[in-house]
Amino acid sequence: MIQIIHEITHAIIRSNLTYDQNKAMLDTEKHYIMLQNYVQGMKAFLQETFTLNDQEALSMIFGGIGDLNNENNSTGVYVDWGNNFKKIVSSHGFSLIYGDANYYLNEIDFFKSGVKGSKNCN
Ligand SMILES: [Zn+2]
Repeated sequence: MIQIIHEITHAIIRSNLTYDQNKAMLDTEKHYIMLQNYVQGMKAFLQETFTLNDQEALSMIFGGIGDLNNENNSTGVYVDWGNNFKKIVSSHGFSLIYGDANYYLNEIDFFKSGVKGSKNCN
């Protein structure tokens, strides 16, 4: 489900760009726009569509965008990506340390492992 809202948000971001702008912009930059401007909208969509609490919805959103960390570090496109990502994730009450009770990917892992929700597909 998070892949769908992620792609829809990409489409929205793209609709605000010209063809040339879109072509010139890296995925990294689009994810940065997503992180800064669309987290609340994505969360609202997820919660209207599925039964998710704040932490569950945000965990899915940040998990989908967070893949970018590595990409960014390797390209150096946004030197401050990591810091901004951490700042935004932390501001929503998540920890970025694996193993913490409020680690930001915990909720996603609960769904993936079947602890929460029902599996309809793989
Ligand atoms: Zn993406």
